[in-house]
Amino acid sequence: MQTPGHAVLNLALLGGHASPALAVPILVGAVLPDVPIAVLYLRERYVRGLSDERIWSESYQRPFWLNLIHGAHSLPLSLLGGVVALALGVAPLAAFFASVFLHALADFPLHVHDAHRHFLPFSQYRFISPISYWDVRYHGRAVALGEALLVLGVSAWLWPRVPGAARAGLAAVTVWYAINYWKSFPR
Ligand SMILES: [Zn+2]
Repeated sequence: MQTPGHAVLNLALLGGHASPALAVPILVGAVLPDVPIAVLYLRERYVRGLSDERIWSESYQRPFWLNLIHGAHSLPLSLLGGVVALALGVAPLAAFFASVFLHALADFPLHVHDAHRHFLPFSQYRFISPISYWDVRYHGRAVALGEALLVLGVSAWLWPRVPGAARAGLAAVTVWYAINYWKSFPR
């Protein structure tokens, strides 16, 4: 799933609109698992000048990046973090880990060859899904459209429930999805 979608979905599912104090940790938890991917991409693309093709087929496949990215998408680690945070009674931290957990859960059914090892460090298992959120060989176009519509629907639901600044964010996410879909799946 695309990173901005995680932010919108997690905010609604975890009630960030109803408890503003939790909104920031929820948003950070929703985005953080994908930050290493963004850092990798920006560095390889704009500092080293590599093509997209080489970034995904070579740089992304290095063990350092794979371990970091897959580790950030670990279901047991985020669950453990959430349980510890709850036991300590630290609500923002629990919201953060719940958001990381939801992010990993949402990615689980939508990756094919790029599936993450969601059970690190306990298992190297990767679920190879029959559908992808981006790869046209695995219904990527339909899945991406479904994801975009879901995020649009959730954004519309959140709209009257959040303050003005957050609405600007929701509008930006919607525009981003439209542009990304247009660029990813040329007619
Ligand atoms: Zn992710």
